[in-house]
Amino acid sequence: MEASKGSAGCPFLVRRSAPIFRSLHLISVTNENTVAAVETGSSGVRPPVERKLRSARLSKSIFLSDQTKHLEFTPEGEELLPFTPGQFISIQQVKPDGKTHTRAYSIASAPRNPATFDLCLNRVETGFLSNWLCDLEEGTVVQFHGPHGTFTLRQPHQDSIFIATGTGIAPIRGMVHWLFEQPERHRDREFWLVYGTQHEEGL
Ligand SMILES: Cc1cc2nc3c(=O)[nH]c(=O)nc-3n(C[C@H](O)[C@H](O)[C@H](O)COP(=O)(O)OP(=O)(O)OC[C@H]3O[C@@H](n4cnc5c(N)ncnc54)[C@H](O)[C@@H]3O)c2cc1C
Repeated sequence: MEASKGSAGCPFLVRRSAPIFRSLHLISVTNENTVAAVETGSSGVRPPVERKLRSARLSKSIFLSDQTKHLEFTPEGEELLPFTPGQFISIQQVKPDGKTHTRAYSIASAPRNPATFDLCLNRVETGFLSNWLCDLEEGTVVQFHGPHGTFTLRQPHQDSIFIATGTGIAPIRGMVHWLFEQPERHRDREFWLVYGTQHEEGL
């Protein structure tokens, strides 16, 4: 194993014995929390984004480490939440100052029926919504819009390397769950994960 520095300053663990790929579909996550692609279309104008407000109840809140949580939500009043693995939702919450704040969180699961979805959150020092969500009691209802985003798998699937640090694993977790749900989605393909954390206990 060899450690090198990623753009976010996190060490990436690189396997020396990496195989030679027939072809490579590289997906990069630029730092812990941001995803790369925004599709603007040929006109350069962003397509309209759906802003319908939905609600979901927190059904499970589990510590992954002292700073990181796995949250599972059940949408209210909807059987299904249609989304493509890799997309994110935008959660809204009113701050004590009365202003509504919106933050994006990648969906960390594949579509399920009946619909539940997972988020993977880490606390941000003096941040608002990350800490609000990490401290949320099970049973609380949150408001969100989406799904949004174009950071999704391209068809046809190819041998791929997934690269992430910290909670940047969230959209990739959804993609990987989806790929391994059905044999025809991963048959004859190789998938590799390069994952980095700042601290060993975060692995
Ligand atoms: C597409 C996308 C997907 C994402 N997915 C995830 C995910 O899956 N998991 C995840 O954990 N995060 C994810 N994020 C990040 C997430 O949206 C939030 O940015 C993160 O949770 C921090 O939000 P916050 O409200 O806690 O922090 P904020 O309140 O926004 O604060 C962030 C930082 O800025 C500082 N700050 C805030 N206001 C000021 C100010 N006025 N002056 C100076 N400094 C200030 C705070 O001290 C803090 O350090 C994603 C982001 C994007 C864009």
